[in-house]
Order: sequence, then C-alpha cells, then structure tokens
Amino acid sequence: MILIDGKKAATELKEELKQEISQIKKKYNKVPGLTVILIGDMAPSQIYVRNKEKSAIEVGLKSEVIKYSNNVEEKIVLDKINELNKDDSVSGILVQLPLPNHIDKQKVIEAIIPSKDVDGFHPMNVGNLSSGYECSIPCTPLGCYLLIKKIEPKLSGKKVIIIGRSNLNGKPMAQLLLKENCTVTITHSKTKDLKAECLQADIIVAAVGIPELIRGDWVKKNTIVIDVGINKTERGIVGDVHFKEVFKVAKALTPVPGGVGPMTIACLLKNTIDCFKRSQK
Ligand code: NAP
Repeated sequence: MILIDGKKAATELKEELKQEISQIKKKYNKVPGLTVILIGDMAPSQIYVRNKEKSAIEVGLKSEVIKYSNNVEEKIVLDKINELNKDDSVSGILVQLPLPNHIDKQKVIEAIIPSKDVDGFHPMNVGNLSSGYECSIPCTPLGCYLLIKKIEPKLSGKKVIIIGRSNLNGKPMAQLLLKENCTVTITHSKTKDLKAECLQADIIVAAVGIPELIRGDWVKKNTIVIDVGINKTERGIVGDVHFKEVFKVAKALTPVPGGVGPMTIACLLKNTIDCFKRSQK
C-alpha cells in the first residue's frame, strides 16, 4: 500500500520550477509574473490567495495580488483584466473564485486572454484540452494527473472511474486520462450504481464534495485512489474517500489533507511558467 505524499511531490515540483525560473532569468533577463485578483473578504479565498502568493515568491516568480472590495463594479474588474492582458510583465492572470453575485463569472473568465489563463477555465483552453492540444490545464486535475503518473507511468488501457463532472475537476481530469489512452467513465449524482462502477476501476478519482462517500468495499485490490474532496466535518477536514477503509485495500491513496491540495498550488506555478514559455515562442 502506497500513501501518496502530495506535499513531497509538490516540494519536488516546486524545486524543479525554481531551477527553471533561474534558467529563464539567465536567458531572458526577466522572470514570469503571476497576477491574482481577489475580490471581497471571504476568509477561504484570502487564505488561498495568500498561499498562492507565498508559493509564487518561494519559487522566484514575480507575484502581484490586486484586491477589490466586495462591491467593486464588474467593469472595473474587466478593465483591469484587459490592462493585464496587454502587460508584458504579466505571464499569468488568475481571478480567485467564487465571485460576488453581481459579477458575471463567465464574463470574467472569458475576459482573460487564453494565453495568460493559468486556471485553464477559458473556453479556448477547455476546447484545446479536449482536442488534445497544448494549453493551460486546470491546476487540480493537472496535479492529480502528475500524482497518478508517479505511481503508474504506463496508463494505456487502464480503466478509470471519475466521480464528479465539474468543469473544475471531473471533466478536465477525464480529458487528461483519455489522452493517455485510459478507458474513462465519468460518474455523477444520477449514476445508478456507483459502487459497481468503482469496483471496475484500476484508478478512481473522487471529486464530489461528500465526506467519505467511497468505502472500502467499493474498491478492488491494486486500485489507485485519488481523493480530491475537501470536506469540513466536526472531526476536521476529510476527503470524499473513507481513508481508513480504502487504505486497507487500495494499491495507492492520497491523504486529505496532504494529497491533492499541495499539488494544486504547485501546478498553478507550473502553468504560469508554461504560459511564459509559450509567449516566448
Ligand atoms: P462540484 O462542482 O460541486 O461537483 C461535484 C460533482 O459531484 C457533481 O458533478 C455532482 O454530480 C457529483 N456528485 C454529487 N453527489 C454525488 C453522488 N452521490 N454520487 C456521485 N456523484 C455525485 O464540486 P467540485 O468543485 O468539482 O469539487 C469537488 C470536491 O473537490 C469538493 O470537496 C471541493 O472542495 C474539492 N476541491 C479540492 C481541490 C483541491 O485542491 N484539493 C480543488 C477544488 C475542489 P451532478 O453534476 O450530477 O450534480
């Protein structure tokens, strides 16, 4: 049984990115820049943005956070994005979600030029991912993919069950694994027999948001289980997978916390560098 250490994997990835940035600095005499727009004072968003900024600085990226109050006009945000789109010192732009109700999320996502869309949410990047072209890939599924590849480098022919079909997690995850020639099934809240589906899987990726939904008797031996879920309970943060039960049967499992989470931020940094590199081509 392998406990997939996301913290260690993220530290290793960040170390590689650090070296890449110092090479970029030597070659271009500048470093890639990440600009994050934070609207409002929601505590989780503030924590996420602080962690993103800290990690960006740690690896040597130029990092900027632009903060607006909760009642900022949509036009001010869109104008700022437009300004950042044209700014050569900005390689990646991220608008922290969720947004206040009066701001149209889709408009904001589509305002970011696809070449600087480090979240990979712009329809152009979504389309490129599904066509198998080079593009920004949403950070959490990219992190999951890199963890899976560490455990199982040869994915061709593997049967994958993805639980959850969000644009953020399930759908991009499916595209990444389809490109690796996996046989992918996406399940969701209307799936008839989720347990039976899971019992077919060589790899399970759970991105649901229901505490400990996936039980030990849903998983066959030798399955790799990736738990994306972050659920607040009275017992603290737990994943979508019943850790104790599944740990006994699976081949490999990510813990929550300390699994997918740390890789998400590391992949944001990777996406920023990749955007910079594509802009120099
Ligand atoms: P979401 O947008 O709420 O999507 C949840 C998906 O789960 C939906 O497709 C839903 O189906 C499906 N679902 C709900 N109940 C189900 C059930 N009983 N059986 C099977 N599928 C079911 O969630 P999300 O944004 O993808 O996030 C999922 C989880 O990942 C959350 O806990 C979130 O906090 C966590 N997360 C973690 C990270 C990280 O860095 N680790 C990043 C992002 C999110 P329908 O489409 O039919 O409604």
